Amino acid sequence: MSIISKDIQKAVALLTNEQLVAIPTETVYGLAGNIFSEKAIKSIFSTKKRPFFNPLIVHVPSVDSLEGIVTHIPEKAKLLATAFWPGAMTLVLKKSKKIPDIITAGKDTVAVRVPNHPVTLELLRQLPFPLAAPSANPFGSISPTKPAHVERYFKDDIQMVLDGGACRNGIESTIIGFENEEPIIYRLGALALEEIEAVVGKINIKNKEEISPNAPGMLARHYAPKTRTFLVDDVASEVKKHLGKKIGILVFKQSLENTSLTEVVLSKNGSIQEAASRLYDAMHTLDSKNLDIIIAEKFPESGLGNSINDRLQRATFK
Ligand code: AMP
Ligand code: MG
Repeated sequence: MSIISKDIQKAVALLTNEQLVAIPTETVYGLAGNIFSEKAIKSIFSTKKRPFFNPLIVHVPSVDSLEGIVTHIPEKAKLLATAFWPGAMTLVLKKSKKIPDIITAGKDTVAVRVPNHPVTLELLRQLPFPLAAPSANPFGSISPTKPAHVERYFKDDIQMVLDGGACRNGIESTIIGFENEEPIIYRLGALALEEIEAVVGKINIKNKEEISPNAPGMLARHYAPKTRTFLVDDVASEVKKHLGKKIGILVFKQSLENTSLTEVVLSKNGSIQEAASRLYDAMHTLDSKNLDIIIAEKFPESGLGNSINDRLQRATFK
């Protein structure tokens, strides 16, 4: 029997009973548990095989629910929350004592977000506790953007995927931390840098080496298919280097029109938004076709193109 269901009351019951439920968000599906249940939180880590040094994002129904969870909200965090919540932005703020150390990997900060998905907002409103919800995939593999992706990963491990359809944004949230009250990007994501800068001015991106202990979402190889993947500017020339292999192609808008290749065009209209929302589903599809290699095309380096390139880069073998 399928574990996919639209029954919010069933999700409420399971979560209240310290069980895990996969939940829809606008970014990717999350593997959710009660932040105050040690049993649920431990089972998030064991189900995902996620290392304990990798902290979890806490999901709340509104900015008001942060009371008691964080001890301080910098002015620019308030501006960002007003501008983008509910939405694909995670803020890392000073944590209150109530937040268990296992959620934050022992840090004195906690990552929080108000997700923009009607089903999960309704669920969060009905629950008397926030939900910790990392992406609902085994550690290091491709994030799920459809209920079926989660079911394939975890049908033997969890009782329910709350069905909210395909994720609209399709890549993880943009994570923003604060140093001396000033925002700094910890992870590029579904909310473009340019949109954030329009609200708080120029903002720095913490470099990958520096950040890795802080934001393991930044680990070099992450979000990865099992099939060996290359990221290049010129897909056609790369194809010529691999003649005789079974090749999968992931391109932005322009088909190579080569019938010997298994190809996914992410957005025929050239919409970056559409490409982002379809990216992981395309990676899941290509990864299931027993190909020798996948060749992905680099995106234009602006807006969401940067976030997509970041994920594609992490999907490649170094
Ligand atoms: P996921 O929910 O799997 O997309 O990943 C959650 C990510 O949030 C982690 O991998 C970290 O990169 C980031 N994160 C969570 N909590 C913190 C924190 N306290 N400080 C910095 N980054 C955090
Ligand atoms: Mg993840």
